[in-house]
Amino acid sequence: MRVAVFSTKPYDRQFLAAANAAQAHTLKFFEPHLTPETAPLAAGYEAVCLFVHDEASERVLKLLAAQGTRLIALRCAGFNNVDVAAAQALGLTVVRVPAYSPYAVAEHAVGMILALNRKIHRAHARVHEGNFSLDGLLGFDLHGLTVGIIGTGQIGMIFAKIMQGFGCRLLAYDVKPHPATQALGVQYVDLPSLFQQSDILSLHCPLTPQTHHLINKEAVAQMKTGVMLINTSRGAVVDTRAVVAGLKSGKIGYLGLDVYEEESDLFFEDLSSQVIQDDVFARLLTFPNVIITGHQAFFTRNALTSIAETTLANVTAFAAGKPCGNEVTPERLRK
Ligand code: NAD
Repeated sequence: MRVAVFSTKPYDRQFLAAANAAQAHTLKFFEPHLTPETAPLAAGYEAVCLFVHDEASERVLKLLAAQGTRLIALRCAGFNNVDVAAAQALGLTVVRVPAYSPYAVAEHAVGMILALNRKIHRAHARVHEGNFSLDGLLGFDLHGLTVGIIGTGQIGMIFAKIMQGFGCRLLAYDVKPHPATQALGVQYVDLPSLFQQSDILSLHCPLTPQTHHLINKEAVAQMKTGVMLINTSRGAVVDTRAVVAGLKSGKIGYLGLDVYEEESDLFFEDLSSQVIQDDVFARLLTFPNVIITGHQAFFTRNALTSIAETTLANVTAFAAGKPCGNEVTPERLRK
């Protein structure tokens, strides 16, 4: 199949080209994001391959459908950037990569916890300046602390297992509690209890209308003073302004973000010679107890191999008229 691949970086091309050796699709790589302005690039391509910052709104989908596109192949798990109902109405099939390496994301969340707690980012900078003082680097034992997990799907479950290894008490909130998670010894509680009892909170739910700004001013007010908040899910699950206020008051003691609600204007690009125009993001960078990574939690070679192989297998199944099992439909969303 002819596939127009948007938002490509060198690593996307490398892993997709390697996986395509076994599939023989015609891949055309485009650097820009898919937007109404760039949609004409996909004219004549039956499949369009997208990542997290590509816009698959009704407007863009209409343009694509009119140009002959029949398949939207997401090379990611989240699909909050796709108007799934509009796609269905236009006869477009949407497929995704529901799981690639949940270990990659869970392990990155744990890495943020360790770095924030033991202030590894500050210690590294100090030692390079010949400053071996320990003042300000005091951490705490994770053993015995209460960790709250929001969303106990594939990533949340692996995160729970790792934190259990540290000897933490595990609480969780999920709209669909999973028996396997309970069997692990994780206790499901309501959201207020989770906020009130957790020393560390880690977000692993998708971005949906229900989870948009789930962590808002009211939620922060219920949290323990000095709580550590980790977000590797999607930026808009957190109301960033509420979190900045929480950091300023000391309510939030530590913040680890791999995602940010306005990240599409920043992440995945080298902007080091430019002035950052986003004042909320710039404020976040001033806190010594905040670590931000640019949506890299998924970024392991294992995950990129798996993403590329599943994406192209999804395209192959569609070309053969077979279901791949990774279709995203409004019906499936409601289940
Ligand atoms: P998953 O579908 O396996 O699990 C998501 C869990 O969240 C499910 O158990 C679901 O019931 C629960 N959930 C849904 N709505 C909820 C709500 N309103 N409140 C609480 N829980 C709710 O997904 P996953 O593979 O574990 O991934 C989780 C999220 O991580 C993805 O949706 C994606 O946004 C994000 N993600 C981020 C990266 C990254 O690089 N930072 C990479 C992959 C995935």
